[in-house]
Amino acid sequence: MSGKLFIRNEWVDAVSGRTIPCINPADETEFERVPAAGPEDVGRAVNAARAAFDGGWKRSSPELRGKLLRELARNIRAARERLGQLETRDNGKPLPEALFDVDTAAQIFEMYAELAEQFDGWHGTNLTLPVDYLQTTVKYQPLGVVALITPWNFPIEQFTWKVAAAIAAGCTCVVKPSEITSLTALALAELAQKSGFPPGILNVITGYGSEAGEALVNHPGVDKISFTGSTATGRRIMSLAAPTLKRVSLELGGKSPVIVFDDVKIDRAVEWVMFGAFVNQGQVCTSTSRLLLHETIAPAFLEKLKKGARSIVVGDGRTPGVQMGPLVGAEHYRKVTDYVAAGVREGAELLTGGGMPSGLNRGYFLEPTIFTNVEPHMSVWRDEIFGPVLSVKTFRTEEEAIALANDTDYGLAATVLSEDTDRAERVIDQIDAGITWQNCNQMVVMQAPWGGMKKSGFGRELGRWGMEAFLEIKQRTRWLPDAGLGWYQQPVP
Ligand code: NAD
Repeated sequence: MSGKLFIRNEWVDAVSGRTIPCINPADETEFERVPAAGPEDVGRAVNAARAAFDGGWKRSSPELRGKLLRELARNIRAARERLGQLETRDNGKPLPEALFDVDTAAQIFEMYAELAEQFDGWHGTNLTLPVDYLQTTVKYQPLGVVALITPWNFPIEQFTWKVAAAIAAGCTCVVKPSEITSLTALALAELAQKSGFPPGILNVITGYGSEAGEALVNHPGVDKISFTGSTATGRRIMSLAAPTLKRVSLELGGKSPVIVFDDVKIDRAVEWVMFGAFVNQGQVCTSTSRLLLHETIAPAFLEKLKKGARSIVVGDGRTPGVQMGPLVGAEHYRKVTDYVAAGVREGAELLTGGGMPSGLNRGYFLEPTIFTNVEPHMSVWRDEIFGPVLSVKTFRTEEEAIALANDTDYGLAATVLSEDTDRAERVIDQIDAGITWQNCNQMVVMQAPWGGMKKSGFGRELGRWGMEAFLEIKQRTRWLPDAGLGWYQQPVP
């Protein structure tokens, strides 16, 4: 149900009665409002999650968790079109991309259903010890009440990655979606309720980061914060979590490189580069927004890249045939276009784009934009722009490409395109990034660990690593001999 908070399976207003507008970024119109939760609402949600956890969910059977997650996946599939339309309206992304996100969400809930069902398998493993008088078993237990704070770029997917893993692990959750795109989180909560989720195990609080988000991070009843968003907010959350020693996982920003060697099939490589820079309007944490291009193929490659970028159809994501929608909102649009202006000011050359596509005069649209003649000190090369802006530098040697790729504070993703498998693997091994792609780009393998190195954060999502992030590890060491320790026995005189 839109326009309400979801607490203990009930739909309620914020205590303050304040609300936040939901704006369609394709036409700048308000089409809905959601509550702006404050500390009191957050307290109610955390208390509901605590009561559900202590009241029995922490001992719930893996079979029950698996069954509920499968049912939710089934209901998501049934609501596919409605969820996709809502996501496109709220976030701006083209409808086919929103529908892809919905399908992936259903698959992820199913994958975690399976992992939940296998949970007993990793419960209670005996270690092989070098002594025969002890037996040590390692067990996992659900971490408790978890706060799941998500960004606006993949609202359905980010909700799913966290909620599916947390519920599979036996935690109870309070989700705080981005205030810019809250609607599909509420729609998914409604489907969870329909799927039979017991009251309190999933709660959704809409609100601003500085209010609802901080109240959640500060709340003593929360055991862990799983956060995805900007590096600046991640830093703030980590410091706020310190006094209560909450566990923290941070999935933060990036400025990822794509290295293109001179032996690639050019048309294919151009497409991977375009996909890495422009899919989801470039609003992707792993967006490969720094192109490192071998100098011998640069002229031919850039010609095709320019043509390719200009051929992308930009418009309202609900219009058939549109390949790129608007940026998510007014503030973000300003930030991205300020970076474009800074690139020009700093002396980079605009190969294509930089403005509003012709024929569009409303909405936060920006042409696919490519800068060449970029120097490593320029902001378009160093900062995460989070929009459809690609910066290009050429290189001569493998060593130079690796050094340039690693010359960043971030370490989220990296792509290497080369027909020489040995070289591609050698280069990937030397790049400090948690997610790497060889001869492809932006492929999300839900069974594999996802997360960053350096200032891109720590902790991993997806696969069994995503579930382990919501578990505590406990050892049980047992004394086997039928005799005491004898440590304090006095020698017999
Ligand atoms: P953001 O940091 O502004 O906000 C993310 C979430 O945090 C929102 O729900 C927001 O309300 C909340 N928040 C903001 N301030 C807070 C505070 N002080 N305390 C608690 N919560 C607070 O990020 P954004 O603009 O929504 O998303 C874009 C960023 O997310 C980019 O940097 C992108 O790289 C990153 N991201 C990373 C991944 C990944 O997997 N590493 C995935 C998607 C997005």
